[in-house]
Amino acid sequence: SDVRENLTYEKFGGAIRDLAQTIADDGYEPDIVVSIARGGVFVAGGLAYALDCKNIHLVNVEFYTGVGTTLEMPVMLAPVPNAIDFSGKKVLITDDVADTGKTLKLVHDFCVDHVAEVRSAVIYEKSHSLVKCEYVWKRTDEWINFPWSVEPPVVRREGQVLDA
Ligand code: 5GP
Repeated sequence: SDVRENLTYEKFGGAIRDLAQTIADDGYEPDIVVSIARGGVFVAGGLAYALDCKNIHLVNVEFYTGVGTTLEMPVMLAPVPNAIDFSGKKVLITDDVADTGKTLKLVHDFCVDHVAEVRSAVIYEKSHSLVKCEYVWKRTDEWINFPWSVEPPVVRREGQVLDA
């Protein structure tokens, strides 16, 4: 279908507060937020402030190589976090969307052996996702436009060099 779920930066702000409130009401107090770059970094920053958690880690995962084209399986790129960092900690994994769920599963399985507890929070979860996240702001099966990736990267303009 050509219907799109459109997330704006304005809606994103409310979504993060709602998601954080749900996590707080559930009594989950993460020691570490682990964000999946790049979309999950926006979610991690917002949730970490709202949940008063000062410890954010980041993992880089490569899966989508183009529009609708993926590798067979997602892969975690170096550097991967040290297992020592996670030992005995309550972890919250964040991403923008669980679509196939393969990316979240990879990071979840990496964390789960080393930590006290691990849960996941996403803005969106699709119904076919193979992982069911504990915290989801909205369920949809549409393609989602995120405010950080809906526009192409900026390109350098001529005549914009600033004098020192
Ligand atoms: P998964 O491993 O769950 O299939 O995909 C996770 C990643 O794929 C997301 O973090 C996101 O970068 C990308 N992705 C999956 N579905 C969508 C979508 O509907 N819209 C956008 N913009 N990206 C998506």
